[in-house]
Amino acid sequence: MITDCGNAGLSGNAEKSSILLIYTGGTIGMKEDPVLQALTPFDFSQILDEVPELGKFAYKIDSRTFDPLIDSSDIEPSNWLALVQLIEKEYDAYDGFVVLHGTDTMAYSASALSFMTEGLTKPVIFTGSQLPIGAPRTDGKENLISAVEIAAAKDADGHALVPEVCICFDNLLMRGNRTSKVNSDNFRAFRSENLPPLAEAGISIRYNSALIRKPLSWEDRPIFHTNLDTRVSILKIHPGITPQVVRNILCGPETRAVIMETYGAGNAPSKQWFLDLVHEAVEKGKIMLNISQCRAGCVNMDIYATGKCLKDAGVVSGYDCTTESALAKLFHLMGESRDNNEVKAGLERNLRGEISK
Ligand code: ASP
Repeated sequence: MITDCGNAGLSGNAEKSSILLIYTGGTIGMKEDPVLQALTPFDFSQILDEVPELGKFAYKIDSRTFDPLIDSSDIEPSNWLALVQLIEKEYDAYDGFVVLHGTDTMAYSASALSFMTEGLTKPVIFTGSQLPIGAPRTDGKENLISAVEIAAAKDADGHALVPEVCICFDNLLMRGNRTSKVNSDNFRAFRSENLPPLAEAGISIRYNSALIRKPLSWEDRPIFHTNLDTRVSILKIHPGITPQVVRNILCGPETRAVIMETYGAGNAPSKQWFLDLVHEAVEKGKIMLNISQCRAGCVNMDIYATGKCLKDAGVVSGYDCTTESALAKLFHLMGESRDNNEVKAGLERNLRGEISK
């Protein structure tokens, strides 16, 4: 359920943009309850009390809250569906959307939303924080203020400056499906290793316009995709991995696709038992996607014999996709098609800027 917190009372005279804040849960929306002496979520309709700086913008800001709130470790594809349906319903009423989300799985959710919204003409900016918004040194206020400013930003023609699903964190705006959480106790919690930031907030916000994706048409409404097939497993290769473990993951009857997290440029053990299992999985009709365990760089199965064997077996390259993005892309493509060849063809394409291709 999603609760309407109404207008946060933030509209000014020179109202320029309207923003919908969607609070799903996570640290950002918490403050210390002096009685309970524990972190509890605060009433989001009172956001101006917590972040009075937002009132200095001349924006209309409304908010909605997930009920119950979700620690992002509990996030499920059904929550992504609820988010997409809410954005679809409110799409014409707002200029931009800011999703407040726990940091733990924010990169998964932002990736999923990027594939579930095709042809966006408005920003969907995820943010959160490492410290609750009520804490003295919180990073939540800055993150929220920057996210709102970016979600509201338009060019001279009135078009959104960043019509993409992004993560805004610690002064960086990153494409959502390029981002991973890399630090659990530093304010710079997210990185986008294979794509520079789309914007950086300093004294002013500097946009990297050349990298920002634009819709084919500003007039058309986006397509909101709501079919997801979650039958994906992830195999992280490591020294000492056993045939039993590999078999269970590659050949499980419930699995339609396997993301193989390989070494370096997409290399895996060249042992015969391993290659036999890869062949067996491909013969069983599994979609096999090769993603590197390296956070930066790209899979290239043509460099080493160990990578070539995978390619010859029918494993598809994930290029420089993050694991989070690969998972979301597979959920989306498999939800849209029962034909595995169609899914494999989709994996080869750059759909939402998730790969450098
Ligand atoms: N466990 C929390 C969550 O991801 C941490 C956070 O909000 O950053 O929901």
